[in-house]
Amino acid sequence: MAPVRPLEAGVYVQELSNGPTLAFKDMAMQLLGNLLEYELARRHEELNILGATSGDTGSAAEYAMRGKKGVRVFMMSPHGRMSAFQQAQMFSLQDDNIHNIAIEGVFDDCQDILKAVSRDPEFKRRFKIGAVNSINWGRLVAQVVYYFYGYFQVTEDSSTHVDFTVPSGNFGNICAGHVARMMGLPIARLVIATNENDVLDEFFRTGVYRVRGRADTHETSSPSMDISKASNLERFVFDMLGRDAVRTRSLFDDQLRERGSFDLGGDPAFVEVATRFGFRSGSSTHADRLATIRDTWRRHDTLIDPHTADGVKVARMHAVPETPMVVLETALPIKFAGTIKEALGREPDRPQRFIGIEDLPKRFKVLPADAQTVKNYVAEIVLVPAE
Ligand SMILES: *Cc1c(COP(=O)(O)O)cnc(C)c1O
Repeated sequence: MAPVRPLEAGVYVQELSNGPTLAFKDMAMQLLGNLLEYELARRHEELNILGATSGDTGSAAEYAMRGKKGVRVFMMSPHGRMSAFQQAQMFSLQDDNIHNIAIEGVFDDCQDILKAVSRDPEFKRRFKIGAVNSINWGRLVAQVVYYFYGYFQVTEDSSTHVDFTVPSGNFGNICAGHVARMMGLPIARLVIATNENDVLDEFFRTGVYRVRGRADTHETSSPSMDISKASNLERFVFDMLGRDAVRTRSLFDDQLRERGSFDLGGDPAFVEVATRFGFRSGSSTHADRLATIRDTWRRHDTLIDPHTADGVKVARMHAVPETPMVVLETALPIKFAGTIKEALGREPDRPQRFIGIEDLPKRFKVLPADAQTVKNYVAEIVLVPAE
């Protein structure tokens, strides 16, 4: 279910975060878990998902795969660096097929280990290693559906156009909106909201795509949008360039690798980004998030999380009176209680089922930030199942 509720004149919020981990990623991941279990059984195969997370993705993957036959999850997270709530969500899972690996390091160390493993095809083949990251097409396709459902809820007939604003990081969620629009859904504008990590905002304003280094990636209060490059952008650029695969590849494989950026600002196709494809963008700051959370709480009695606040702030920059604007709610406020407290002076109410979650017994393995050690740990479990 993804109900739309009104916020203020012409602006709506679509609830996508009522799944088990309270973030929109559940919507696609829950489907993927069932599809994987079905298909693996049909092929008599198994799959070991190796991932790295700083929060939302890892818990959504674990809650989607827990108890699924033929699938194991090995999820690396930076030891002691997630919020207590996020850590408890993941580490309290007692399912045999879920393996939490707390890496002694930061998120980037987890990602480096993942990259090291993906450069070892022999290990991947032998231990049937796979991923469910944000470029997974199964996830993207599943997200297309709620744009249609949102559209139907705010319109009477199909002559009306609707705008959507999407708090964005890896360009996965909004790419699904682009697909919905290409399928014929009457979307007028697709608005990208970023935080201080404004790689996407910069691209959609100027045509310059400049991936950031580690030192230039900010740690913000909407952490699930803290990205240095947007993994799914290539999919849109391909469409923008008239589906020219050779040119798309030369931009992403050659120019990006060599120079860390490319510039399509002068390209005739770039004009169409706003016209034919309807994209707009904007970014927000920590102060904007606090102000937006406070404002929607005081004026509309609605509590939103910091990521959704990025969306509401940028939606207000682009909303036009005659077109309904739907902001996608990407997480619930309880996941980011610290920022809510900073904005309102009090923590959000906790849903019943999460009360005391931090006190549940935890299941995790602490390992050093070393790819070989992680590989050995995975190999041990895959070859000698505990059951
Ligand atoms: C993953 C996530 C995002 C960003 O979504 P993308 O598909 O990567 O653009 C935004 N908000 C929250 C809460 C998320 O978990």
